[in-house]
Amino acid sequence: MLSYLHAFHAGNFADVQKHAALTLTMSMMQAKPSGIACIDTHAGSAVYDLNSDRARKTAEADDGIRKVWAARGSLASADWQPMLSVLSGLNPASDDLNRYPGSPAWFAHFLRADDTLTTFELHPTEGARLEEWASARGIKVRQEDGLKGMFRLLPPRQPRLLVLMDPSYEIKSDYQAVASALAKAWKKCRHGVYLIWYPVLTSGLEKGLLEGVEQGPVRKVLRSEVHLDHPPERGMTGSGMLMVNPPWGLSERLSAMMDDVSGREALGVTHRLDWLVPE
Ligand code: SAM
Repeated sequence: MLSYLHAFHAGNFADVQKHAALTLTMSMMQAKPSGIACIDTHAGSAVYDLNSDRARKTAEADDGIRKVWAARGSLASADWQPMLSVLSGLNPASDDLNRYPGSPAWFAHFLRADDTLTTFELHPTEGARLEEWASARGIKVRQEDGLKGMFRLLPPRQPRLLVLMDPSYEIKSDYQAVASALAKAWKKCRHGVYLIWYPVLTSGLEKGLLEGVEQGPVRKVLRSEVHLDHPPERGMTGSGMLMVNPPWGLSERLSAMMDDVSGREALGVTHRLDWLVPE
């Protein structure tokens, strides 16, 4: 039984890091014209209302994307511009940020004629909302397990692949399951770019994922983590992204983006980046 709903967390500091990494990867891959098969294994619903009861209950976006939006005039890295222009497009009538895209909407914004997007979402109501949004846009939605479903799409017919795996980690074994799924997918498409989000937890449960990847066959795994400068005593103290086969130069550009928003007036985090598994 799935209970996680991303509406409570949309636009928080972890979403900022994840969607910055996603949009940067996508735009760097699109420097070449060849088509990209995009797969979103845990899509959520596509667009979130930051003023909904669920969003206001946690107010997480207030310390996340809304801080970045308020600081948008002073962000040094030009790589914020694609994200900011998507946000402006979604919030045309207001200087406030009221609507925030989930990963399918970020992907969809950047799709070119030869790129495709397949999304997976297992939660029935989230899947139905996603379907409603996607049907008007010709985007495929599969209401099934994304980690299993992606294997059927590999290797893709396009020359390049970009996969986002963003589970809700409701079951402890999900961490090992993601490491195993990555290894299996990588064996089917070794040149694919795989982005995996994970929480940094006081329990340290995410080590199951990190150690699984370190001990597995996959090479060239970049790790980006943002750590809250004032973390809670228990629970999530940071947000991590593993990036397999990242485009050349991504580490410097992602670091520059994260450095822009690290300070107290923005996300209040410290960013660290290293190779979990080198080439
Ligand atoms: N990727 C989204 C974004 O960035 O906006 C957020 C996704 S949220 C963290 C995780 C989603 O995965 C939830 O909507 C949950 O219902 C869904 N989910 C959980 N287990 C799943 C599975 N095995 N296959 C597909 N979706 C799953």
